[in-house]
Amino acid sequence: MDKIVIMLELQQQLNDSTNGKDWTSGVSKNSKEINWKRCIYMECAEMIDSFAWKHWKNIDAQPDWDNLKIEVVDVWHFILSLAIEENTKHGQLGFEDLANEICSVSSYAATTKQNESYSTQKEIIEQVEFLMLDALKREGFTLFAMMEHFFTLVKMSGLDIVSLYRLYVGKNILNQFRQDHGYKDGTYIKVWNGQEDNVVMKHIWEVDGDIAPELLYEKLQEKYENLEA
Ligand code: MG
Ligand code: MG
Repeated sequence: MDKIVIMLELQQQLNDSTNGKDWTSGVSKNSKEINWKRCIYMECAEMIDSFAWKHWKNIDAQPDWDNLKIEVVDVWHFILSLAIEENTKHGQLGFEDLANEICSVSSYAATTKQNESYSTQKEIIEQVEFLMLDALKREGFTLFAMMEHFFTLVKMSGLDIVSLYRLYVGKNILNQFRQDHGYKDGTYIKVWNGQEDNVVMKHIWEVDGDIAPELLYEKLQEKYENLEA
């Protein structure tokens, strides 16, 4: 439950800084429409592209399981955003209470057990399509039906709440770090003494699996400042 609260907070911060504080109104600070449901089904398509599903192309390619996990984490960014937006409009719960409701969906419980096994390609794609159907609903959408499908997908993709959390926090903090260090104007250095920044980030997790998000950011900062010129 605490992990969900932290992820809601981090998502709120990332969206505030990327889109402006008023993003839950559905419009960014650059006056662009924000459509989280579209973000969700487009990322779902990327999930399906982790598999060689095309019957006319690369028919013998193996599934890219690592990429599948990355796309699950991408979708999670958008589902969290949608949850915060819906909550701002309708529920106005604090994040603790919102996290409590999220954790009460029945498929959540299974994600609290360590898991590294995958379902079949056919089962996973079918589950992804359930999520797409949720996102494409014109009527009768409920966030909790979507959460239900999402947590089932987490388990099917060889993830659990701990690995989802680590991948999510890692990506969130790295996105923030890049934004704070010149990513937009192209001055950001992505390769650090021969290693890509996300590899450096992953290594920090391997050393300390319980590292707090702020500390992760500080460690990145420290390493970035000490890069050899
Ligand atoms: Mg095409
Ligand atoms: Mg993606």
